[in-house]
Amino acid sequence: MTNKIHTFTGAVPPSRSGSCTLVGAGPGDPELLTLKALKAIQSATVLLIDDLVNPAIVAFATPTARIVHVGKRGGCKSTPQAFIEKLIIMAVREGETVVRLKGGDPLIFGRGGEEMAHLQAAGVAVTVINGITAGLAAATVLGVPLTHREHAHGVVFVTGHAGDTAAGTDWPALATIARSAKLTLVIYMGVSKVQHIQDGLLTGLPGDTPVAVVQNASLQQQRHVICALAELQHTMAHEQLGSPSVIVVGDVLRGLALAQQASVDLPAASRSGR
Ligand code: SAH
Repeated sequence: MTNKIHTFTGAVPPSRSGSCTLVGAGPGDPELLTLKALKAIQSATVLLIDDLVNPAIVAFATPTARIVHVGKRGGCKSTPQAFIEKLIIMAVREGETVVRLKGGDPLIFGRGGEEMAHLQAAGVAVTVINGITAGLAAATVLGVPLTHREHAHGVVFVTGHAGDTAAGTDWPALATIARSAKLTLVIYMGVSKVQHIQDGLLTGLPGDTPVAVVQNASLQQQRHVICALAELQHTMAHEQLGSPSVIVVGDVLRGLALAQQASVDLPAASRSGR
């Protein structure tokens, strides 16, 4: 391999019998798991589980598997990344079949890339099994495509919460390019910074650009709102949409926004008659 990230450093001997698989658990609905993911979960002897992994998916593990929750929801602090990696390395060296289960796709945000690089640098071979990423599921549950020959020539998956060390996303620049190149924006982890995101995007996109916010996509408690970009923060606060949510921005939503407007405009009598 030529990429430095993937090169075995030789710092420690590689594992003899254990294995590590980074598995995408998808957006939540267990039926959206890949067959490969299911098989890996069922054959794991040790599972490390992230936040946002549906317990119904963890239930596919064999009853004798060791299950370690390493997420930060429920008021707990998340397990430090270095500790998670140490656990994996130790388990693999002891010959365990380790599955690291992450929400959505393991290599879209959620530090999957960093984790893989650190494990490989420690001499642990890592296999990756894709999952359906939340942004893709969010668009699909709304019945909209992320790309469209007329309205969207591409799609950008972007974080609304760049790490402390990274410069924050340049929302004005992204808005300008999204408009000129016809791109759909799919924003992960944007809830807490929504006002900042809205203000930045409005410098390059019209206020009536349609936006959808989908919370808990594919799960029973799924909710969504459709609104104009200029109303995003207000609408989310009013409808009390929180995390985990994906924010989709772009003209692929126009049909949905128009349909919603038409239903609001209908006289109450004809609405209830449907
Ligand atoms: N690897 C994951 C993303 C991890 S970052 C993936 O590919 O989907 C965590 C963010 O993903 C959340 O803050 C939220 O923006 C999004 N997310 C995860 N699951 C979601 C779901 N079911 N519905 C809506 N957003 C979700």
